[in-house]
Amino acid sequence: MTDPTEGRWVEVGDGVLARRHRELDLTTGLVLGGERALVVDTRGDARQGSELATAVRTVTGLSLVVVVTHAHFDHCFGTAAFLPCPVFAHPRCRTTLAATADAQRAEWAAHYRDHGDPATADALAATDPPLPDHAVDPEAVLDLGGRTVTLRHLGRGHTDHDLVAHVPDAAVVFAGDLVEQGAPPDLGDAVLAEWPATLDALLALRPSVVVPGHGNPVDAAFVAAQRAYLADLAARRTPLIAHDRPYPDPQV
Ligand SMILES: [Zn+2]
Repeated sequence: MTDPTEGRWVEVGDGVLARRHRELDLTTGLVLGGERALVVDTRGDARQGSELATAVRTVTGLSLVVVVTHAHFDHCFGTAAFLPCPVFAHPRCRTTLAATADAQRAEWAAHYRDHGDPATADALAATDPPLPDHAVDPEAVLDLGGRTVTLRHLGRGHTDHDLVAHVPDAAVVFAGDLVEQGAPPDLGDAVLAEWPATLDALLALRPSVVVPGHGNPVDAAFVAAQRAYLADLAARRTPLIAHDRPYPDPQV
């Protein structure tokens, strides 16, 4: 059984933190401004969200703003622990979450139950994820006090509504599942043909550090390699055998 309290902060820039979670190898984010702090993704159920909110409060007492990178449960079902606060997402994230939350809950609660983790299954079954209330289309600039973060929809890829959070003064981009380290990118809801161009747009931000939705923070070269991998898949038009293909080793 996974201990939902397990997690650790990794500083990826001045006042820019990634939090690594054992569950699903998820990575969330925290950006500290002078007046507000931005939380990037909220974990996969109300209990996990509470763990993350408590961990955030060990770092900062600032008022919080949340961005949800996309509507997959592991990134957004924990939002309630942060309310009341603004919750930013792409409009299609909101509609997708509203349309799919029940199915995601059922599918993954069954998964956890089948894999011997009834506590997580129960927590997920009891979670009704709040919907984002601030739309980002295609971008929004957040003033955190002395620093800005730009939320951007750079194009379709892992889903049709992925957002990234760009911290220009630290050259950090939180990429959601547009980038994955430690496992192949997940193609289940992907728009594969457009994903490489979306990563080109991400690389045009010239990040020094890219924080993936799962796995360890990476550099631009890793993202470029993943872009090439996805472009190769798209060219072959064989996404259904994606997981049978070799995958580049992590570099960071
Ligand atoms: Zn995802």
